[in-house]
Amino acid sequence: MRTLFRGGNVFDGTGSAPVPADIVVEDGKILDVGSGLDGDEAVELGGRGVLPGLFDCHTHVTVSQFDYMRLLQRPFSYMFYEAVRNLRRTLDIGITSIRDAHGADLGVKQAVEDGLIAGPRMQISVTALSQTGGHGDGWMPSGNCVELMPSHPGRPTGIADGVDEIRRKVRELVRAGADVIKVFTSGGVLSPRDDPRHAHYRLPELQALVEEATAAGVWVMAHAQGADGIKNAVRAGIRSIEHGIFLDDEGIQLMLDAGTWLVPTLSAPQAVIDMVDAGGSLPEAVVAKARSVIEIHRVAVRRAVDAGVKVAMGTDSGVGAHGDNLREVELMAEVGMTPAQALVATSSEAARLLGVEHELGTIERGKRADLVIIEGDPLDLRRLGERVVAVWKDGVRVDSNAASEGLPTKSLG
Ligand SMILES: [Zn+2]
Repeated sequence: MRTLFRGGNVFDGTGSAPVPADIVVEDGKILDVGSGLDGDEAVELGGRGVLPGLFDCHTHVTVSQFDYMRLLQRPFSYMFYEAVRNLRRTLDIGITSIRDAHGADLGVKQAVEDGLIAGPRMQISVTALSQTGGHGDGWMPSGNCVELMPSHPGRPTGIADGVDEIRRKVRELVRAGADVIKVFTSGGVLSPRDDPRHAHYRLPELQALVEEATAAGVWVMAHAQGADGIKNAVRAGIRSIEHGIFLDDEGIQLMLDAGTWLVPTLSAPQAVIDMVDAGGSLPEAVVAKARSVIEIHRVAVRRAVDAGVKVAMGTDSGVGAHGDNLREVELMAEVGMTPAQALVATSSEAARLLGVEHELGTIERGKRADLVIIEGDPLDLRRLGERVVAVWKDGVRVDSNAASEGLPTKSLG
């Protein structure tokens, strides 16, 4: 059965301007893109925009809000049911591939792969490595330890110090199903006892981490906010810098030289402040940190964009609401990316970061048929998520509108 998507305004993800085109899909793959094409059935697009299946390279699908009091009172297994809802919301706005940056374990990923629950295809990090006193250490001044993402059999604790412990931890995470290793190479915002400007882990520790990950055939992503933590990560050969709040000129040059990606997550500090304004409870030190970094972060990302650092879209969703992910695309445009660049960062460039560019990220012959149909001009990024009409993943319609309404499909037989 060949499905013809007729009369779309296609942004193919390469960065080229949108063009009127038809797309033919067969067996989950794109058979052809062009004009005047034929098929066995037709989906009439009526000039609507078409984007390739989108990416979010930094999600936390098992968390819906980093509200300390709510998280502490929620039953342990509740997070898995929240993940079901969060994955659905992510898929409904056209994000068909994600990289989960701490939280989702192999069971969540496998449930999506088996079709038990609806969601984007996933690369998972399971947990994140943190030094003692680092961003992943839940120790509180009271002496209590508050794990916002409690360890469990599918998600071991991420605390490790020194080369030997780090090697062992990487092996443990690969055993648990990690597709990518996540490490905190600086302090962060959502933890009360560390400073985002401080570098965490010393270079030999990070080099050992990368060596172990490489031996297991996986890449490394670094939560890196402080300038030194960013540079250590790049020097150790880590593939992507997440957040990059205090990225400086030397760091930018190192990233250019090494070909390191930046995943800005501009949404994240704003989401923290929005949550507190809406009555959520967070330690005061956390809120103060979020307020202090917002503008610094935007300036740093703008400089990186201007210098030509590779950027892939990531939101830190879980800190912000799942389903609002595409707000990040607008924020990327606000710091100097053209709309086409911001969409490329959310499609083909993200696919390259995740190493899946041979099968995803663009609308081209032979690629997997992930298609997002939107109202309006593809290069108009305003309220992009709300304008998504329908989503196909591997040639199958997967959005929750599919049953009730949607695009007219007719047989051409
Ligand atoms: Zn994160």
